[in-house]
Formats: sequence, C-alpha cells, structure tokens
Amino acid sequence: MRQQGIDAFMVPSADPHLSEYLPQHWQGREWLSGFTGSVGTFIITAGFAGVWTDGRYWTQAETELAGSTVQLMKIASGASVQYVDWLAEHMQPGQTVAVDGAVLGLAVARLLEQALSAKNVALRTDRDLLDQIWQDRPSLPAAEVYELLPPYATRPRADKLAALRAAISQLGARRHVISTLDDIAWLFNLRGADVNYNPVFLAHALIDPVRATLFVADGKVPPALQAVLKEQGVDLAPYRGFGAALAALPADGAVLLDPRRVTYGTRQALPAGVKVVESVNPTTLAKSRKDEAEAAHVRATMEQDGAALCEFFCWLEQALADPQRAPLTEVAINTHITAARARRPHFVSPSFGTIAGFRSNGAIMHYRASEASHAVIEGDGLLLIDSGGQYLGGTTDITRVVPVGTITAEHKRDFTLVLKGMIALSATRFPKGTRSPMLDAIARAPIWAAGIDFGHGTGHGVGFFLNVHEGPQSISPSAMPEPHTAMEAGMITSIEPGIYRPGRWGIRIENLVLNQPVEGSASGGEFGEFLRFETLTLCPIDTRCLDLALLREDERAWLNDYHATVRQRLAPHLAGDALAWLHTRTEAV
Ligand code: ZN
Ligand code: ZN
Repeated sequence: MRQQGIDAFMVPSADPHLSEYLPQHWQGREWLSGFTGSVGTFIITAGFAGVWTDGRYWTQAETELAGSTVQLMKIASGASVQYVDWLAEHMQPGQTVAVDGAVLGLAVARLLEQALSAKNVALRTDRDLLDQIWQDRPSLPAAEVYELLPPYATRPRADKLAALRAAISQLGARRHVISTLDDIAWLFNLRGADVNYNPVFLAHALIDPVRATLFVADGKVPPALQAVLKEQGVDLAPYRGFGAALAALPADGAVLLDPRRVTYGTRQALPAGVKVVESVNPTTLAKSRKDEAEAAHVRATMEQDGAALCEFFCWLEQALADPQRAPLTEVAINTHITAARARRPHFVSPSFGTIAGFRSNGAIMHYRASEASHAVIEGDGLLLIDSGGQYLGGTTDITRVVPVGTITAEHKRDFTLVLKGMIALSATRFPKGTRSPMLDAIARAPIWAAGIDFGHGTGHGVGFFLNVHEGPQSISPSAMPEPHTAMEAGMITSIEPGIYRPGRWGIRIENLVLNQPVEGSASGGEFGEFLRFETLTLCPIDTRCLDLALLREDERAWLNDYHATVRQRLAPHLAGDALAWLHTRTEAV
C-alpha cells in the first residue's frame, strides 16, 4: 500500500459475478482476516484492520478474530454499507482508497464514490493488490459445464432467449450484459460445479439481437455441447476476454445492465459512447417465477427430500437412545443427513453447508461444526439442524429443531412462539404484487408479542436446481420494499422465523412455500388478484417441543393438517423403522 500510495485497502466478499459463495480464488477477505463467514468486508489502513459483518456472524467473528489485531465492526441490521460511512469519516482529504473494481458491485461503488469524493478522497479501482501478496492464491475452478435436459429443463433455451430479447428491446436497449452465474445457468439451461453448493459455472454473457456469447474458460464446455450451442445461436469466447469484448462494443444501441448484478469493472469497461440502460436483469424476474412443470418437479423432489429426512431423524433418535453407542457429534449429523439424501434419486449435492448446532451452538446463526471444533450431543437440550439438497428436480432448504434428553418449559415456550410465527405467515393471503419485505412482520408478530425478536430475515427466494438464495423477492426487514420485490405467482420462498438465546439455545423452523393464486380471485374481483402460500417442504415438526397451551385452535388445526399431508405424501417412500417413525411424529396434537 505504501509503495503504491494507497491509504486504505478494501476487500469485499465478492467475485466478478457478485456470487454469495465464492471460489477460493476470490476468498481474499478470509485469507487476510481469518474470518470465515460468508458475508464481510475487510478494510486495512496503516494503523487499523477491521471486518464489517452483520448480526448473524458476530459470535463467529468474535471467536475467529480473537487474539488477532483485526477488529470486528458490527453492522446494524439494515445498514449493510456502514463501512462506506466509516471510510468517509476516517480518511483525510487527499488520501486514496483502493479496491479491485473487478469484484466491487456497481451499486456499492457508486455509494463509495459519492461518499469519498465529498471528502476529496480518491478511489482507485484498477489494482488487485492481493495478486502481489497472495503467493499460493488458488487458481480458478475448472469443472465441466453440462446441459440441464428435459424433463427438468421445462423451457427450451431458444424460448428463454427470445423472451429475454423481447424484454431487452422493451426496455429500450439493444444488448444485454449478464454476470450473475445463476441467471446465466438458468437462461442457457446449463449447469456446472465451479462453486460449492451452487450448480453454476464461471461465465459472463453478452446477448445481442441475434447471437449470444458465453465467456467461459477454455475446455469447460465439451465439444458436443459447444456444437449444440452454436447451432442455437450461442457462441463461446474466452472467459478472460470479457472486458476486451465490452470495450469493443459498437455505439449502435444501448446496453442493458443491472447495477446490483454487475461490477464496477464491467461498467468501466464499456466505451464512453455507449448508452446504458439500467434495470433488474429480466432473467432474475423470469427465473423466480417457476412454471407449473417446475413446481411439479419440486413437489416430487420434496417427497424424496422429506423421506430422506425421516430416515435421518429416525436414525438420530435410535442413536441417541442407544447407551452402547459411541459419542455422537454435530459433525456426524452432517455426514448422516447428506448420506440419507444421497440415497435418493437425482441428488446432486448439499445446497449449503449443514448447520447442526446443539444447545448454545444453535444460537450461532451460521454455525458450522468442524472436526477441530464441535459439540458432542449428550445430556439435555435442543438440537437445531438446517440443511438442504440440490436435486435435478429442485433445491431444498429446511430447518428443524429436536429435543435431546429432557427439555424445559422455557425451551417449549420459545419453540411454540417460533411455530406460531411460521403458521401466521404460512396461512397469510395477500394481494398479488405485495412487496415481499412487508410480509416479514407477519411472521414476527407472535414473537414480538412476547417481547422477543430475531436478527435475520424471515425468508429468501430459492432457485430451481440453482442457488438456495435468489432474488428478487426477500421477506426481510433489511430489504427495501422496491417494485422488483413484488410477490408474483410461482415464486418459491423460505419462511424461517427463529428465537436465539446466546449461550443457551437457538430455535428456527423453516419451510419452503410456493406462491399460488387464490382460486377465484383472478377473475377481476373488487380488490384484484390474491396469492396464498402452498407449503412445499414435507417433514414432521417435532411436537415434543410444543407448549400446547400457547397454540390457538386454528394454529393447532394448521399443524394437524400439515402433519396429515406429510404422512400421506411421505409414507409411500418409506418402510420399516423410518415409516413407523413418520407415523409417530405426525400424530395429531
Ligand atoms: Zn435453511
Ligand atoms: Zn433458508
């Protein structure tokens, strides 16, 4: 930094595709700071180093940063770019802040530019300092790209491209640049394995009125697939050639791009004379609205996933009850739950790292047990398990909490309050187009009524055999209720309220739900069309954790109906002990 006249250097948790899960190559923030959480921003100056992260990661960051000189900078809920204010406050006029523009989101870059220029602080984005100091920096992933075929690909890529071109021209543009990996995978009906848990591949895409170009590293797309793509108007170009291709674009029409989904570097690469139209990627909106065929695949996938979970939970109860067994650890939970899923058809991989937290570990929101650090599951307490799978027929994400030994009245009260939040939102009907962040308070209300709150959003969009977190909808108090967050039919979202008592226990219950039109409301009723949630996730909610006195009659009916459905749909996929377990755990209360 001294050599180059840089006073502050910033490393965001980001790659050129603004992915949530980063290839090792771009995990510079983790390499520099030692904080392994998936969200955080590192800033270093001559006399200071700190990591900004939100409430989900504070406990983890405190542990990982202990004894280092890196400070934990706590980001308040809803203030995700607090570090911009910090820079503006601590930099002196004439100083220089540097960040690699290739991994800086365009929207964040603008905030940063504005805040710094107001203080006469320069922003440099043309340098990746990490490349000079990170000697054993991992190379880029090189997994093979493959085709998602029918029946799981429910729309031909030619149809998707035609619809996209219509949207581009409707927005007044001629070309479109896409860098987000799930948008690219969805649009071209292609999948890969470059990123942990997400079946995507590293690429950028440029859509012209006639052809489309995929910028993807040499050797990743097999020749036969290359030929298929070429015939359908999709050309391949070198991954590293993306910037140069943008710089060479003619000025004969506007380029559409999504400021939240491309980097500052991409925007800077466009020639000065090219007009830019900014809008949410049309693919992000189209991808979120699953069609009937996709919804049917997800329902079938949920039966397999639920059956795998029944086998797992049946095994877990037997293991805990066996006095002869070896000590059971949180790490073993991950091994067994993944093995149960892997026995099911069309399983590809977990959809994120399993969170298995016993007692106080359940209160750490993104807890990951490791060989080096984990709890043994013995004695009394609650065990929280959040896990999911990638299948050709859909992506799953589910949290359940089970009792170990004897649990207390306080455990049961918290568990029941969380369930009441889950039921309240699951049973809600709302006008089509309702901004998704506004629904958050409905799940929170029964928890707020007890003077309790939780530090994460209530729900996130979920992809179809794609990312477990996708937009544009987000049921979260920290998301702005902007037009693109509107709820539309076909969207799949999680509902996952929780209660966390640091040092004691954590409770979260999570189902995935599908937006369905309310029958009869579409025909031009006085108040327009309404939506309801169809619960997709199929797995018993442990009634041993309930304080029945806290449930209203309608809530009890919801739970009993849910368990009747779970029993009916999962029973055909189970046998023996797991089937008996399903019957026990779906008894009406
Ligand atoms: Zn989850
Ligand atoms: Zn989730």
